[in-house]
Amino acid sequence: MLNDCLFCAILGGEIPCSKVYEDDYVLAFRDINPQAPVHVLVVPKEHIACALDIGEENSFFVSKCFEAIAKIAKAEGLENGFRVVNNCGIDGGQSVMHLHFHLIGGEKFAEKII
Ligand code: 5GP
Ligand code: ZN
Repeated sequence: MLNDCLFCAILGGEIPCSKVYEDDYVLAFRDINPQAPVHVLVVPKEHIACALDIGEENSFFVSKCFEAIAKIAKAEGLENGFRVVNNCGIDGGQSVMHLHFHLIGGEKFAEKII
């Protein structure tokens, strides 16, 4: 596996995924362990380890992720709302060290962290 990164392996087609969206900069696929009726992982097609590594040179990928999120949310029928989560680092509970955004929705969330 190139650079030992699970999401790079998915991006490279070495590991299959349930794709919901793709463009030149972003791949989005269903989480293998969904936490909501809709749970999509939105992943930039560049290896950025975590939110700490976002800078001027790669923030373009982040905006492309959020453009994708708006498209996917509409395609998945989430016009009533949804949540976007990014876990960063050990304290943030990140388990795959390739930047990604969890798009979750399809139900009214009772709990709020913030
Ligand atoms: P994190 O904990 O890093 O914020 O999120 C990683 C997410 O990747 C988890 O929600 C986990 O369920 C998901 N995941 C882990 N391995 C795979 C996989 O092989 N395929 C898919 N589709 N999702 C995965
Ligand atoms: Zn990667």
